[in-house]
Amino acid sequence: MAINQAYNWIAPALRTIKRANWDRCPIEIHARQSNLIEVGDRTLVMFASNNYLDLADHPQLIAAAIAATQAYGTGSTGSRLVSGHLALHDQLEQGISQWKNTEAALVFSSGYLANLGVVAAITGARDLILADQYSHACLKQGARLAGAEIIYFHHNHLADLEQKLEKLRSQYRRCLIITEAIFSMDGDRASLAEIVQLAENFEAMVLVDEAHSSGILGDRGSGLVEHLGLQQPLIQTGTLSKALGSQGGYVAGSQELIDFCRNRAASWIYTTALSPGDTAAAIAALELIEAEPGRRQQLWQNITLLKSLLAQAQIPCLPTDSAIFGLNFGEISTNLAIAQALNQAGFFAPAIRPPTVPTARIRVTLNSAHRADQIGQLVDVLAASIRR
Ligand SMILES: *Cc1c(COP(=O)(O)O)cnc(C)c1O
Repeated sequence: MAINQAYNWIAPALRTIKRANWDRCPIEIHARQSNLIEVGDRTLVMFASNNYLDLADHPQLIAAAIAATQAYGTGSTGSRLVSGHLALHDQLEQGISQWKNTEAALVFSSGYLANLGVVAAITGARDLILADQYSHACLKQGARLAGAEIIYFHHNHLADLEQKLEKLRSQYRRCLIITEAIFSMDGDRASLAEIVQLAENFEAMVLVDEAHSSGILGDRGSGLVEHLGLQQPLIQTGTLSKALGSQGGYVAGSQELIDFCRNRAASWIYTTALSPGDTAAAIAALELIEAEPGRRQQLWQNITLLKSLLAQAQIPCLPTDSAIFGLNFGEISTNLAIAQALNQAGFFAPAIRPPTVPTARIRVTLNSAHRADQIGQLVDVLAASIRR
């Protein structure tokens, strides 16, 4: 029998990826407790997780996940519409809508699926999507899935957005503007109030992804919308897997929007409901975020400290307004070398490379459990390695 040659393209394609220094390979963590992780035979301080409020191994989340697993089992065993809809899902959705101050919310199996599902549900071939060029991959994929016209505006550039609205809006049925609240790779904030105003002027919808701002911004920690006090109708999405320390995603907004998504968001309809354990952990996280604002305050103290130490040491950092710091050292190879030096010194903060980001950088994220001495040591190692 002749050997099927159909798969022979994979090896040369992989070689091309490797030659460009774009090869990706996950690093195995075999134990973790708060910010201490074990990699190989070494213990490292984690400076790259999205566990902003240190909730991912909180005893209350673990206990809630165990109790829910004992009560309902490990899997939801069906999609929400068919057989997997649990009282826990309802409780979590009510918790999210109260937190977000919206009429309703819908929980998905991941933030990726939430964005994919809502964007594809609410726009179609006759519509225009104007997305910030730095929008997360799932937002871009959702826009492609929708079959809508997708135009990217320059990153957080209001004049460019306005110009595009002026030129294009009238040619389409609906228009959706997409932005992140805090951008996941740079850490800067969207000019959301101004974007919402532009949307009003041009009769456009706005979807804001609060993946990196929920739990971090606002008096109740619900995100940038709360922080800015925006009252206008909006489509708010986010994840349960970052500050909330669980797994899953959501969309929050008007009752009509949520009812519509329940009928039209394929990534919600045709997938198994979020597991009981993840759902219960997220409910526990919402309670802790409300009960313990000190976590958020500690996170902001850490952010202020790192910012000032980086400035003192003259370490190049992209403008940030969050727990995300993009330290850019130019060439991919330099970034990889500095990431390696950090690793040698006991810190985990990998280099992020194209195509995830336009320019290579070391992405450092802080959380509420980092201690001042750990942050200080991180900066010392960075300063020493750029001198070399
Ligand atoms: C992480 C992230 C997501 C995806 O959330 P998951 O729950 O991890 O799938 C979506 N949008 C942004 C901006 C993110 O950073």
